[in-house]
Amino acid sequence: MTQLLLGSEVAARLGAGLRARIVALARPPGLAVVRVGEDPASALYVKRKAERASKLGFVGRSIVLPATVEESTLLQIVGELNADPAIDGILVQLPLPAHIRAERVLDALDPAKDVDGFHPENLGRLAQGRPRFVPCTPLGVMALLREGGVALAGARALVIGRSNIVGRPMAMLLEQAHATVTVAHSRSLDLPTLVAEADVVVAAVGRARVIEGTWIKPGAAVIDVGINHDSSGQLCGDVDEASALGRAGLLTPVPGGVGPMTIAMLMHNTVASAEARQRA
Ligand code: NDP
Repeated sequence: MTQLLLGSEVAARLGAGLRARIVALARPPGLAVVRVGEDPASALYVKRKAERASKLGFVGRSIVLPATVEESTLLQIVGELNADPAIDGILVQLPLPAHIRAERVLDALDPAKDVDGFHPENLGRLAQGRPRFVPCTPLGVMALLREGGVALAGARALVIGRSNIVGRPMAMLLEQAHATVTVAHSRSLDLPTLVAEADVVVAAVGRARVIEGTWIKPGAAVIDVGINHDSSGQLCGDVDEASALGRAGLLTPVPGGVGPMTIAMLMHNTVASAEARQRA
């Protein structure tokens, strides 16, 4: 019997907890979201984040720039947001157009406002086990695993994907929670065997239903980060949900699993930033 772990429900509960912290602040948290170009997926993600922030009473600033914007203009905007005392968190939606060096933009963020946790200082702090802002998706996955009562100490965890946004910080968090972690990627050999050996699987690949249910160790916790469209245009994860159901002990659906948790953790990080800045 597979327990479906609904991130949408967990995120709603976390939001209720955040409200009490927000009303205790001297001024509402300020979140600036910068988007470049008209990629429909990015536009949708930014819209959802802005809606959630607005519902929680944040002061929101949404900046949409044309796909042709110069890198120097974007860097100047980041500098202005860094200096703006009403802004506690800055998010630059990725991916950026090819002519803009994403590393330069992320490096330019004030690390104390980098609520996505992508600045090298924040990733470095996470690597050293003294995090400030943890990237929202892996942080949300950890909250889901806690919610699902998954014991991590000594568990064999497999992270599929090694991006700086999801896979790499995910592996760090699982290792810090005392799991024995394997990271798989596009050059890994024999993915089915790696999956079969894992008590916990976090799939962050970006390929529709690439992980088959028959590979999964019976009873394993399977967290599906992927957001894909299959050949018929249907939204789906990296895990083949139909064959994983009944085999996994715990499974997150797509949609309604990790996605809402990513947004909830962005709100959490921004409130934490506002609290830290108002204490300072
Ligand atoms: P990237 O494309 O940056 O990374 C994908 C990773 O998967 C890479 O490390 C790649 O390996 C690996 N990979 C690709 N093909 C295979 C394969 N056949 N077998 C094993 N590993 C493979 O993606 P992201 O990390 O940014 O995102 C991953 C997925 O998660 C996407 O679907 C994205 O949309 C989704 N996502 C969802 C979020 C949410 O809130 N639910 C938030 C962020 C992302 P290599 O390094 O060798 O290329």
